[in-house]
Amino acid sequence: MDFEGKWEKRWHPLRQEWVVYAAHRNTRPWNTGTQQVTKPDTPAYDPACYLCPGNARVHGVRNPDYQGVYVFDNDHPVVGLHAPAVTEGSGLYQRSPATGIARVICYDPRHNLTLADLETVQVTNVFSAWRQQMREMLAHSSVRYVLLFENKGELCGVSNPHPHGQLYATDFVFRHCEQHLQAARDHRMATGTNLFAEIIENELSDGRRIVAENSGAVAFVPFFARYAYETMVFPKRRHATLISLTDSELYDLAEVFQELVRRYDRLFGFSFPYVMSVQQAPVDGADYPDYHLHLSLLPPLRQPGLIKHLAGPEIGGGNFMADTLPEEKAAELLKGF
Ligand SMILES: [Zn+2]
Repeated sequence: MDFEGKWEKRWHPLRQEWVVYAAHRNTRPWNTGTQQVTKPDTPAYDPACYLCPGNARVHGVRNPDYQGVYVFDNDHPVVGLHAPAVTEGSGLYQRSPATGIARVICYDPRHNLTLADLETVQVTNVFSAWRQQMREMLAHSSVRYVLLFENKGELCGVSNPHPHGQLYATDFVFRHCEQHLQAARDHRMATGTNLFAEIIENELSDGRRIVAENSGAVAFVPFFARYAYETMVFPKRRHATLISLTDSELYDLAEVFQELVRRYDRLFGFSFPYVMSVQQAPVDGADYPDYHLHLSLLPPLRQPGLIKHLAGPEIGGGNFMADTLPEEKAAELLKGF
């Protein structure tokens, strides 16, 4: 396939903005191939790690000798159920307490593994723990939204490699969700159809950008990807949040996710960094019949050793300029294996 010398812009239907692609000759694809994944020689237990079993954390609390998934309240919360009171503003400049819950979710007691290394059933256990957390958050009337995410790798600012993610439950709805909801409403008004279903149908019928699929879930580099190796993972059946996912749907989602992250690692030859988030509808008691939960993976690398720096267009202007086409990146991820 010849992707060179192509310029175009594509509409991002979830963000309702243009993404510009310029796949020029001077940014031609690097010499990719599936590789042996090399890993730093890290031990399964690190006595200095605050997430390893049995170790003390910052305020002296000791982790139990946990097996499987372990969840605890963040020792440095950015939101809390007893957030400090502030003088509420009025008019244009408003403020209020940062109310919410912040938790850390350790995926496994072993310090040197990632979700790509675990057995699929263990990844399913992590997803199941997320679902359980979602159910628990329903009991808190102040919680309107739950953001589950994982920053992976030093390039994403994580100094501790212990496999873990985080939960922020907040009394406001995060911006991406607000955007998705608005886009889905607008699409419903304009066409009478579900925006997410249409995206999934488009990807399945085109097929070129799909990088993993089973009977219950699908992963693809979306037509409108902003980051080179950006992917989305959807359960095929619509669920607004993880709460209603069945065990078998959870397994299918975990299996497809795992195939995807293994492809990342194999393509780059090392444990691939990303910011992963679970995009879900709010949990404020309302129904969100047009929302379709999915995982979003935004990797910072566009080649080995080459970071996608956000600069003038992205930071200054607010729209992404991508150096590669999504079809090209999906083809790389599909190579071999
Ligand atoms: Zn550790």
